[in-house]
Amino acid sequence: MVFNGKIRYSFIKMGFLDWLFPRKCVWCGKGGGYFCGQCLNTLSLISKNICPECSQGSIDGRTHPRCKKKYSLEGLTSVFKFKGIIGGAISKLKYRFVWDLADDLVEGVLSFLGEARVFGDFVLKENPLLVPVPLFGGRKRWRGFNQAELLGKMVAKNLGIDYDDGLLLRTRQTKPQAMLQKKMRLENVRRAFALRTGRQISRKSLIVFDDVWTSGATMRECGKVLKRGGAGMVWGLTIAR
Ligand SMILES: [Zn+2]
Ligand SMILES: [Zn+2]
Repeated sequence: MVFNGKIRYSFIKMGFLDWLFPRKCVWCGKGGGYFCGQCLNTLSLISKNICPECSQGSIDGRTHPRCKKKYSLEGLTSVFKFKGIIGGAISKLKYRFVWDLADDLVEGVLSFLGEARVFGDFVLKENPLLVPVPLFGGRKRWRGFNQAELLGKMVAKNLGIDYDDGLLLRTRQTKPQAMLQKKMRLENVRRAFALRTGRQISRKSLIVFDDVWTSGATMRECGKVLKRGGAGMVWGLTIAR
């Protein structure tokens, strides 16, 4: 890699890569923008929230009282279905972080987040700190960035809440969850995260943020680490599910 992360970002910001790679719809490839009108029409919102513990339907995404364990997430909010144009946008950002594409995506998330009533209340009343799911150091260096960090920072800024990507650490390399079968995913992320030493989160309300919710094993594990570290309430937020 010739450029280090910082220089690469500023090149992207300056539109250098836009010039090199003209904007095309992330789903159908039509020129003119990252989201063409036709594909935007097929955008699907999450219509049914789920409990982050059992993945069954739950009003407002709250964890079912019967599922709640000592270190469970309080609830989960996801905005879009991970398919079509949203799947395309997130996959594109995974290999190259494009600022204006991320801007459009975050704007879309925020415009629909208002409907997530409980999440909105949580943000207003609890003044939470947004914590992105970290990548392992080696993988971050290889890719140059962590899209959950960059997207999370933009979401936090727009919600007017604090952001901290130094709180959680990924302590070992894990395999990409998507490559694994369901029962292996839990094992893959078990004890893969830790709270950075010396950080105080006692009774603090937190939002664990990731771009996609798949099996939920990663976010449940992050939630567990934060709560064990003393956090009061931890809510999960993902762009897609
Ligand atoms: Zn399109
Ligand atoms: Zn449940």
